[in-house]
Amino acid sequence: MSELPGIVIAGASGRMGQMLIRSVLESDRMRLVGALEREGHDWVGRDVGEAMGGVALGVHVFDDPLEPMAKAQAVIDFTAPEATIALSGIAAQARAAHIIGTTGMSDDQIARLEPASRHSPIVRAGNMSLGVNLLTQLVKQVAAALDEDFDIEVVEAHHHHKVDAPSGTALMLGEAAAEGRGVDLAQVRDAARDGITGARKRGDIGFSVIRGGDIVGEHEVLFAGAGERITLKHMATDRALFAKGALRAALWAQDKAPGQYDMLDVLGLRG
Ligand code: NAP
Repeated sequence: MSELPGIVIAGASGRMGQMLIRSVLESDRMRLVGALEREGHDWVGRDVGEAMGGVALGVHVFDDPLEPMAKAQAVIDFTAPEATIALSGIAAQARAAHIIGTTGMSDDQIARLEPASRHSPIVRAGNMSLGVNLLTQLVKQVAAALDEDFDIEVVEAHHHHKVDAPSGTALMLGEAAAEGRGVDLAQVRDAARDGITGARKRGDIGFSVIRGGDIVGEHEVLFAGAGERITLKHMATDRALFAKGALRAALWAQDKAPGQYDMLDVLGLRG
């Protein structure tokens, strides 16, 4: 029997990192071979199970990815843009799939993943849940069916620790709406309203951001016309949802050619 795919979790001490470690340990389709944290982090060198306040697992936290990546078939990475770019080169060297949940990456940073994707598969998605990915397809359909008489607004809410805005998911939904309408999001994106902004520009796609408490993630796309409104909404109540999607992506990527993919590919939702 062939061995189960070895998985490394980056950003091990983070909210998503810990959730991902628990999810890999619960899975009977993969095994945890290492965890990563940044240099100087107090988890480095410790057993990851003990660092999380549980029993020893015989799996360690490394600050140098080379050693654990040599045993890995995939690395799951929910960290920060520069950390993700650095890891992409090492995943490529190891010919391991790189599953990226990190958000807040600029276009330039995303372009810097391209060399790595020539050597191993990268799956990157601002939201790994089935529901949100399905929602993007619905948003695209509705935007294609309605004209600019309907103003499109994306409203998102997250916990108060979140560092980027609008969320990666809000941008995915904005992209889907722009694609449905046949326009470039960069040309119609309106993400900063404050003060005397003037009237809303026809055709713009607006973004509003709420930050507070422990909100896991809520997204609503509003199509506001004269005398009627359509809203499409997703609410995540448990971040295990994102971990589940990331694990599915890691398994899916095992027999894929090098290249860049997203969750629509993993879930078979690409229309
Ligand atoms: P978090 O709790 O702050 O965890 C981030 C982890 O990454 C921490 O362990 C942090 O270590 C580590 N990290 C940050 N910068 C690093 C660097 N330069 N080098 C090495 N490690 C670094 O954040 P989170 O809530 O888990 O979210 C992490 C990312 O995932 C965010 O971009 C978030 O938006 C995204 N996210 C995506 C999805 C999705 O479905 N795609 C879902 C939820 C969250 P330190 O503690 O040392 O800083």
